[in-house]
Formats: sequence, C-alpha cells, structure tokens
Amino acid sequence: MNRPQNAASAEIEQPAGSAGVSSQPRSCLACGGTYGPSPISGLLRCRTCGFTSADVRLGDEQLAALYGRDYFHGQEYHDYRAEEASLRANFARRIFALRQHVPNLEEASVFEIGCAYGFFLDEMKDVARQAAGIDISRDAVRHAVEQLGVDATCGDYLLTEIDRCPDLIVMWDTIEHLARPDLFLAAAARDLRPGGHIAITTGDIGSPVARFRGRRWRMIHPPTHLHYFSADTLRLMLDRAGFEVVHLSHPGVTRNLQSALYIILALKVGAPVLFDVVRRLRVFDFSVTVNLFDIMFVIARRGG
Ligand SMILES: [Zn+2]
Repeated sequence: MNRPQNAASAEIEQPAGSAGVSSQPRSCLACGGTYGPSPISGLLRCRTCGFTSADVRLGDEQLAALYGRDYFHGQEYHDYRAEEASLRANFARRIFALRQHVPNLEEASVFEIGCAYGFFLDEMKDVARQAAGIDISRDAVRHAVEQLGVDATCGDYLLTEIDRCPDLIVMWDTIEHLARPDLFLAAAARDLRPGGHIAITTGDIGSPVARFRGRRWRMIHPPTHLHYFSADTLRLMLDRAGFEVVHLSHPGVTRNLQSALYIILALKVGAPVLFDVVRRLRVFDFSVTVNLFDIMFVIARRGG
C-alpha cells in the first residue's frame, strides 16, 4: 500500500447531530443507491450495485491519525522501507504493463497520488518525461525528497492544485483507504489532459479468494481500508467519473516473506515474540511473488 488521503470534509454528508464528524455517506459512492447490511460484519453493501464500504464513522483528524509513522512501521507494515526491494519489483512489473497500455509513456508527465517513500517515482525517473507525487505522510515524503531526490509533496490531493496537466495519474493500493474515492476520481479526471490515463491497484472483493475467505480475507481491515471494490463496482465508479476501462488484470504481488510472516505471527496470531525469533534467524528475509488473483490492476482512459 502506498498512501492514504483524506477526503474534503465539506463535501461529505453529515448526519444530524454529528457536526464536524465525517461519516460514510448514506448513498452508495459507486451508483447512488442505498447501503444495506453486508454478509461481512462491520461492512455495508449497496442494495443496487453491491459496492461494499466499512461501517465506520471517523472524523478527518481521526483518519489522518491512522497514518502516522506507526502505520509504515509496525502496523500494516512491519517496516515499509525494509520492503523496498519487493515494492520496487512490483513497480517494475507495473511499469512494464503501463508501457503496453499507455501510449508514449516515455513522453508522459506522470502524477502519483499516494507516493509514500517515493520508490515508484524513483523507478519512473528514466521511464517518463516527468514524474511527481503527493502523500499525506510527512515522514514518507521527507524520505522521498531527501533520500531519493524525487518530486514529492506532502498534502491532500483534493486540496492541492497541481501545476501541470498530467498524461497519467497512478494510485497504487491507495483507493481503498480514501473516505471519498469518488471525489478523487473526479479530481483526477479534471486534472488529467483529455485522453489521459489513470492506473489503479486495489483488492477485488469479487475474487474467488475474497468470497471464500469472507471476513478473514486479508484485505478486510477497517478503518484503514474503507472501501472494497469488485471489478464491476470499480468500473462503475470510473465510468461515473468519465473514465473508460482499457485494461483489467489480476497480477501477482511480490512481498518480503519476513514482512508477510509479521502480519501472520504478530498481528493475526498475536505472537510477536515468535516473530522476533523468526526475524533474528533471518531465514525468511527474501522476497516471494504469489498470485491469489485477488488484487486488481486497472488502467482507464479519460474521455474527451
Ligand atoms: Zn451502488
């Protein structure tokens, strides 16, 4: 995952008596229908299109607080920077796919929403004409700028005027974290040049693994993951924002095995001491690529 963004609170519907507190909107962000209960506890499901959202009510400040330094060190990630090699391997594969589906990538101006520590922007240095990004994590952006020398800004994309008209916007493992993904897609459509592209990765709740695992699917963890897309609902939301999907696949994902074990032993099993033993042995300190076919890679073209 890269980076989360908050939504602009002004556009979020407020239920009576909760002034100043963001909540899930009462109508579906993908189709405008109404939410009902989901078979998975803690989630809501649109009665019309099936779009699934977390049933949480957090203020913007509470959402932002989820993504302090601890987020990248010890919460969802054992150590995000320690995963640099595997993250770069994933980005290299995505760049390979972008070259196939985005015309003239080498001439493109690229903008990344949720650039985190800047590894993707660094990989893009010799690929595209120009690459820049934004992230709300101050710690991550400082690393991106000072250590990698990439063009990264700390801030909320919805509240930021970007001073160029990108040919490509990317959001890697970010859209599921956003309170209002619909507003981000609308803003991306506005910022992109006509005919420009957006590339997104996120979990696929319609995949066989997600359906089989239910509440235990590894991508289900509100409140950091606020929305759960299927191929159909992502296509629907993109369509409403003026995009046409030109590519959708389920590629494999590379992860450092030690970090994957951290999630299992320290977070799921609740045995951090056992993880510490494993970590010191260093026998699992290498990357593996697995494909459970439950992560979507989508490229869509802005009309106009
Ligand atoms: Zn819906």
